[in-house]
Amino acid sequence: MTEPSTRTELSTLGEFGLIDRLASRIHCVVPGTVKGIGDDSAVIDPEGLHQVVTTDMLVERVHFDLGYVPLRHLGYKSIVVNLSDVYAMNATPKQVVVGLALSNRFPVEAVDELYEGMLLACRHYGVDLVGGDTTSSQSGLVISVTAIGAVAKDQVVYRSGARENDLLVVSGDLGGAYMGLQILEREKAVFQDSGAQPDLEGHDYILERQLKPEARRDIIDLLKKLDVRPTSMIDVSDGLASEALHIARSSGLGVRIHDEKLPIDPATYATARDFGLDPTTCALNGGEDYELLFTIAQADHERIKGNPSLTIIGHMTDAAAGQVLVDKQGGIHALRAQGWDALLGR
Ligand code: ADP
Ligand code: MG
Repeated sequence: MTEPSTRTELSTLGEFGLIDRLASRIHCVVPGTVKGIGDDSAVIDPEGLHQVVTTDMLVERVHFDLGYVPLRHLGYKSIVVNLSDVYAMNATPKQVVVGLALSNRFPVEAVDELYEGMLLACRHYGVDLVGGDTTSSQSGLVISVTAIGAVAKDQVVYRSGARENDLLVVSGDLGGAYMGLQILEREKAVFQDSGAQPDLEGHDYILERQLKPEARRDIIDLLKKLDVRPTSMIDVSDGLASEALHIARSSGLGVRIHDEKLPIDPATYATARDFGLDPTTCALNGGEDYELLFTIAQADHERIKGNPSLTIIGHMTDAAAGQVLVDKQGGIHALRAQGWDALLGR
């Protein structure tokens, strides 16, 4: 954790002082926000739309390591991961609330940095921070963010809406965030062993994928522009294989993914090779990519064809055909959500 140059103990402000300090930096801009920070509850006008609500908790040493994650990035990411879940419903995020558990290890300046990142994300995505809760922690930092979004009632997209023969499409590329994490873990280990300064040179793309992910609002906008409504959708937080299985199972279908179609950035590919990992496995199970995985009707193929942000990686089948991965030789394997442990051979 980078030590700020001045250190103000949290106890000098107290809980209410801290909340006042945070609140003074926060200005609500979303029309549906009737009341933000400063009362017992925030007040939101649903404006005749469906509201979607999602929450994600980030726990120090479980989800992040302050040894290499700057607080500003952590704040940014804690908002983005929630907004990603809202976009995955084809909804527009409007408000967030933030729960914080802080240990006295953190000075006021650290909380300022965390909020700087959170508020940057809020501005970037046009979302209001309308409230939260602040409490103390005996151990590490815990950040719980809840996001609220809105969507026209006939526009919401569930995981369960895929139909047989729909095309399976993913945005962006996969496995980068996982390889960024591998670089950070390696350099941390080197630093602990030898005190050598981290060598992060040449890894900008994958480090950014890990440390400063973005939610794919642009893809939601693009699909609207192309007049393509996904039949089902999910965001890629746990790894593509896991998310594809969610869509298939929720929709009562099988799925067939072609491993040669998986979009992998050259930087991800090269780093995976350096680590002796199979790039395909990283793309399938890496997680934290925050891309969107969705299905579209065959009839919409022409509209998305050739778009550089979208890759067709397979299609939905009937349930009896199972959930499978087809390799380059045409071999068929059961699709499994392996998670990170399997990836590392643990
Ligand atoms: P209560 O005791 O009624 O729960 P609090 O004193 O916890 O009220 O909160 C007062 C106001 O400050 C509320 O509007 C709450 O949403 C907001 N708030 C508290 N903690 C945070 C935080 N970490 N970030 C943003 N707003 C917060
Ligand atoms: Mg409270």
